[in-house]
Amino acid sequence: MRKLRCAWLVVVLGAASAFAQTGSAQSGSLRTSGFSLVETLAVDATDAPRKVFHARLTIPALPGDFVLLYPKWIPGEHGPTGPVVDTAGIYFRANGRALNWHRDPVDMYAYHVDVPPGATSIDATLDYLSPVEMPGNFSAGSSATEKLAVLSWNWMVLYPKGYGSDEIGVRASLKLPDKWQGGSALPQSSNAGGTVEFALASLTTLVDSPVLMGQYMKKVALQAGQRPAHELDIAADSTAALQILPQQKKAFDNLVTEAGALFGARHYRDYHFLLTLSDHVAHFGLEHHESNDSRVGEGYLTDNTQWTLGATLLPHEYTHSWNGKYGRPEGLATPEFEAPMEGNLLWVYEGLTQYFGYVLASRSGLQTPEQWREQLAGIAMTYTYRPGRKWRSLEDTATAAQILYGAPEAFSNYRRGVDFYDEGALIWLEADTIIRQNSGGKKSMDDFAHLFYGGNNTAPEVKSYTFDDVVNALNQVQPYDWRGFLKDRVMKIAVHAPLGGIANSGWMVVYTDQPNTVAKMREQEGRGSDMIASIGLVLSREGAVMDAIEDGIAAKNGIGPGMKIIAVNGRKYSQDFLVAAMNEARNSHQPIQLLVENTEYYRSVSLDYFDGPRHPHLMRDTSRPDLLSDIFAPKVTTPPAPLPGTE
Ligand SMILES: [Zn+2]
Repeated sequence: MRKLRCAWLVVVLGAASAFAQTGSAQSGSLRTSGFSLVETLAVDATDAPRKVFHARLTIPALPGDFVLLYPKWIPGEHGPTGPVVDTAGIYFRANGRALNWHRDPVDMYAYHVDVPPGATSIDATLDYLSPVEMPGNFSAGSSATEKLAVLSWNWMVLYPKGYGSDEIGVRASLKLPDKWQGGSALPQSSNAGGTVEFALASLTTLVDSPVLMGQYMKKVALQAGQRPAHELDIAADSTAALQILPQQKKAFDNLVTEAGALFGARHYRDYHFLLTLSDHVAHFGLEHHESNDSRVGEGYLTDNTQWTLGATLLPHEYTHSWNGKYGRPEGLATPEFEAPMEGNLLWVYEGLTQYFGYVLASRSGLQTPEQWREQLAGIAMTYTYRPGRKWRSLEDTATAAQILYGAPEAFSNYRRGVDFYDEGALIWLEADTIIRQNSGGKKSMDDFAHLFYGGNNTAPEVKSYTFDDVVNALNQVQPYDWRGFLKDRVMKIAVHAPLGGIANSGWMVVYTDQPNTVAKMREQEGRGSDMIASIGLVLSREGAVMDAIEDGIAAKNGIGPGMKIIAVNGRKYSQDFLVAAMNEARNSHQPIQLLVENTEYYRSVSLDYFDGPRHPHLMRDTSRPDLLSDIFAPKVTTPPAPLPGTE
């Protein structure tokens, strides 16, 4: 998963425990051939533009106090993010009679239904109310517009307590709005009259197979003719947004080929990139075994800035098919959606995916080497100016992921956030350079990818792993003190950012007064300007303080998040004036004067800062070989031609 920015253990509960509802009164058999039980789920999405989705379920049941669960821990979201608050219109019936129900007083995701004697199933109806506001909690965020929607089945599923999600079969169907098409990795059995019937699938697979639908859709076969098949399914808020240039298609074709070369095997029947182009849905990426749900702005394919800033999203989510879905940390390989997840190995699940995502974005030509270096320099800066690293280990950010995803940006430098993504990537870059150096260039993280995530081509399955498994596999690729290496960087307090991979690969992080080109693009997109290496502030275009580095010069002079810079050296704030003031102070050695507003009070602040603007870049260290360029160069493809306007 990425904010813009997760095979189950097969039959974990086992047949012996399949019929007992833990903690409930009744037991008995619901077994249907192949699965312990089979539900039906009919979703009517014709009200999607109104943001209401209707579901009807038929669920095998036993008489007595029968407990139904609503999915709580959503795979890939690493937290209890199931949107139970956005459900309404819940009714249960059996043998034609309405049934009483009550919510569990402790577990908000559990419904106790009074099932009468003689009843063998429950009919349930449930509506899902898709959020109207744009920000949101990943797949529980805004997902529907007038012209498109992304449907996550977990919104509308109930299942009996006591069963693993592999044990439950679901026959699902979906009625689409008039003139809309759909795309999904979930195999269909029929498609007629605007209703798609899907083949019987496990509840695991159903929840892992969202549907992208819309009036304006384009389906692009990638590496056409190859098996398994790959399809890019794009839905947009306009037909104009669906134009895909030959260079862009070639980059996506390359991505499929380079990923195959990196891992050496694929673990899916076929693969769908579900790409939503809209300014009115939550923007993020969520991985699935045979698809990914990636949502970016409407201009992603037509605007070079959006294209560049979104370059690594699809490679990241696609990498998760191997790292996250096939290979999965033990604590995240839960048997069903009620079981809590443990995130302490997310620096492998997300950190290594972030690293391979960057590598594949470059190898496939989705981004240029120059763009990658600028991005890497920005990451190095972020984790260098990160006072939170003095009190909190990287592992703790992973363990606490379920609360950190929702943490505010204010104070993120001191609190730390989900740092295991990009700081993880820095650590895996360092591991890659150590393998390359110690093996005399014969081995690399590509060999680890083959060993840990490759093997034979298979349908989706899960290989769960532990910290020891990671260490052992690294040692198999290249003997080294990997346990000590990872413990020092991940589990202990590491005051300094892990920049060894940049140095080992023949580059240095330098700071100049020339803007970082990728950071500049972020500013143009309104994501705030980074002045963390100079005066220690992240500012909005209007001067609002989004964050202040806890030991930076601005914070030391009383400036904090939530305040606003009103004026610079007596003149109304603009970013250009602030940059000019920094340059002027460098020459004059006179303090920068700021007028700051805080909760309706104004205050003058004088900053003794004389080093001018400082932006991060990578500079070649010619005393060492350039491993970085080698890591990020295409292995089996040729780069696409540059996009118009970027030559
Ligand atoms: Zn991810």
